[in-house]
Amino acid sequence: MPSSYQAPSQKDKKQVSTHSQTPETNIKKEAATVRKVLDQKGSDVFALRPQNTLHEAVELLRDKRIGALIVKDAEGNLQGILSERDIVRKLADTPGQTLAQRVEDVMTVNVEVCAPDDPLISVLRRMTEGRFRHMPVVEDGSLAGMVTIGDVVNYRLTELEYEALQLKQLIVG
Ligand code: AMP
Repeated sequence: MPSSYQAPSQKDKKQVSTHSQTPETNIKKEAATVRKVLDQKGSDVFALRPQNTLHEAVELLRDKRIGALIVKDAEGNLQGILSERDIVRKLADTPGQTLAQRVEDVMTVNVEVCAPDDPLISVLRRMTEGRFRHMPVVEDGSLAGMVTIGDVVNYRLTELEYEALQLKQLIVG
């Protein structure tokens, strides 16, 4: 055996890759926030007053093609949220007498809200755990938009598709 021969050691096996070669560093980005979704969908929030009727609520839900409404008082303070699910429940409880009822008697009062800088993943988790699909966004004490579970899932799917493409390009070149 030539004297220069050295048996392979653990050190030789260790793969050393530069920072830019790891998929993580190529793909990992800042966690997306609620603001990203609002940038795409805008800050429109459709609201009613507590004294409005469910009839007015279903018309607004139909016209705007949405699933939930914010309930605000005359000063603009958040009073509750009314979703199609609340109305369906009421229709079953009070058949034939539902549409004349007032929004304040049917809405959910304890509204969970998020902030524009909240990570989307935490909002998704809160909606999944709380079993609701709408999250009003509040910034500096006023409403800045509404995100739905569909918005968050869509955003994440697009992100995943992009990440998969990046990975493919990394492998195939
Ligand atoms: P949804 O799945 O959003 O249609 O709502 C299901 C139930 O949760 C309904 O009773 C809603 O009033 C209520 N709800 C919806 N969004 C929220 C929220 N952000 N905070 C608290 N309750 C909510």
